[in-house]
Amino acid sequence: MQAKLTSGQIALAAAKRIVTLAYEKKASHIGGALSVKDILAVLYADILRYDPAVPGSPGRDRLFYSKGHACMALYAVLCETGFFNEDMLNTFTADGSYFTSHVNHKVPGIELSTGSLGHAFGVACGVALAANRKHQSHRVYVILSDGELDEGSNWEAFLFAAHHRLSNMVVIIDYNKVQSFGTVNEVMGLEPLADKLRSFGWDTTEIDGHDHEALRKTFASAAESQKPVAVIAHTIKGKGVSFMEGKLEWHYKSPSSAQWQEALASLEQNNV
Ligand SMILES: [Mg+2]
Repeated sequence: MQAKLTSGQIALAAAKRIVTLAYEKKASHIGGALSVKDILAVLYADILRYDPAVPGSPGRDRLFYSKGHACMALYAVLCETGFFNEDMLNTFTADGSYFTSHVNHKVPGIELSTGSLGHAFGVACGVALAANRKHQSHRVYVILSDGELDEGSNWEAFLFAAHHRLSNMVVIIDYNKVQSFGTVNEVMGLEPLADKLRSFGWDTTEIDGHDHEALRKTFASAAESQKPVAVIAHTIKGKGVSFMEGKLEWHYKSPSSAQWQEALASLEQNNV
């Protein structure tokens, strides 16, 4: 049996896979994949209940990954945690592969195909409500991007979950401050985001989304809340690769061979 990896080990391995996949497959969305990797690493190392050998087991916690364009991060973490092997992952973007460039529910461990933004949160609300009504103990997690909050459907879901007191639900916002065509502040500002979510009836916490210990504590204490929990995770787009951090161009661009090598060296140096 594979030894259990720490969140730090998962995050570094995932980061290397992300930059390598982006280079080898000429894939996009490296910046948003690197910003969310620590959140995913902590969830899969320490928080979520799952069995990679039985991805659809009824008692599993459900993770809805709404920022489906940043698929490389979730694929990489699922690979590290044993849902599938590296050979399968390396079919990413090939004709006929389930490993499409936005997450695909045919990949083991993925609950819902996403990429059309603003859809997963509403689906997750229905799953959380059903779990409550059936007195099932699994928990429901949703990962949203910041730019995705421009979609009105998410605000309807915030209302719905609070109204139904879906305390089995945790929504995490990967707040990396950059979206596809500019900074969040330039395109459609979200502040004061925490005040907005609290006014919608959510138990809301703001943390450093790259601090594993803070992520662990916040997710663990979320189980005690009587309300749905929102975690505003302040992150850095391109985190761990110094020349990519905070840069809009790395929302979409894929690295050259030289940039790929530099990115791997930067990840090692920054000990992501
Ligand atoms: Mg963003």
